[in-house]
Amino acid sequence: MKKILQDLSYGELENLILSLGEKKFRAKQLYDGLMRGKSISKINISPALRESLLKDYENEPVKIIKTLTSSDGTEKYLMQLADGNIIESVFMRYNYGNTQCVSTQVGCRMGCKFCASTLGGLVRNLTSGEILSEVLTVNALHGGGGAKRAVTNIVLMGSGEPLDNYQNVIKFLRSVSDEIGINVSPRNISLSTCGIVPEIYNLAEEGLPVNLTISLHSPTDEGRARTMPIAKKYSVSEILKACDYYFKKTGRRYIFEYSLIADENCGREHAEKLISLLKGKPCHVNLIRLNEVEERDLKTVTEKQAYQFLGSLEKGGLSATIRRSMGNDIAGACGQLRASHLKTTER
Ligand code: SAH
Repeated sequence: MKKILQDLSYGELENLILSLGEKKFRAKQLYDGLMRGKSISKINISPALRESLLKDYENEPVKIIKTLTSSDGTEKYLMQLADGNIIESVFMRYNYGNTQCVSTQVGCRMGCKFCASTLGGLVRNLTSGEILSEVLTVNALHGGGGAKRAVTNIVLMGSGEPLDNYQNVIKFLRSVSDEIGINVSPRNISLSTCGIVPEIYNLAEEGLPVNLTISLHSPTDEGRARTMPIAKKYSVSEILKACDYYFKKTGRRYIFEYSLIADENCGREHAEKLISLLKGKPCHVNLIRLNEVEERDLKTVTEKQAYQFLGSLEKGGLSATIRRSMGNDIAGACGQLRASHLKTTER
């Protein structure tokens, strides 16, 4: 595989351009083209520079090969990487702006029992430039570029565990929020993790005030461990301590994702435990009804049960909402589309 130009920061790109014997302003031209989601071959630079770049660098590191559009306007993309690997990304329209959900790894090695992304394990990490290209491609597709942004918010909730690909994800966060680039504010970016505690402490030190989202899914260690292998390594109380540290360092309230699974985590006793665990903390609970995955036998709850659970949390003084499930009709859940794509191409 060739190198990826989008992996370079603006400063690194300038050094590359100078090392190729070109004038410094060429770096700006090139960078602006990349930030507009253009492939190298479509950027307005001299043919000689284009040719020497194309010898070493991927022309188009991320290509949309399939788009599914939901009745609610959500778009889901299958994207192909230069080595042929497939990832997915989702574009959702809200009244405050457009949110893109990006993948950070091909597959995942966390092994959560409800998740389709992890079915085939981890294939490889994405580079920062590949994650950035997911955004640049979709931003351009929706008419964004230059000062005008079509993607206003980003969630790292696609395939992969962002904190299991720490360095590349941090570099991506820096490049996507660079003021001279696409400039998505860290405050409009949410990083979701299954709870890799040491990396939460590291993230707190990066000076990147992104929203920290924790996939909790149960208030107890035993309950979490039934569906999330990572719970055997880090306890709920260690996670909460790390979250408080994150809040102290960044001033950002943190969020818990809680997928409601029938007969598993949404009884009255679970609500009570959650309340005693989280009451008074600077946090919010996002409930989502489990998106059933064909390969897994876990079942979702009824809408009524979800609202009952929400009511209990609210009565107990927690800030909570039921997350509107977008794109259900287009294999909305994490990794479902890639899994079904791999299945049909294997056949
Ligand atoms: N690895 C990260 C981010 C990716 S998953 C993490 O664990 O947070 C984004 C969110 O979707 C997580 O909260 C995850 O637990 C949840 N999720 C995965 N599969 C799901 C499903 N089938 N139904 C509902 N939520 C799911």
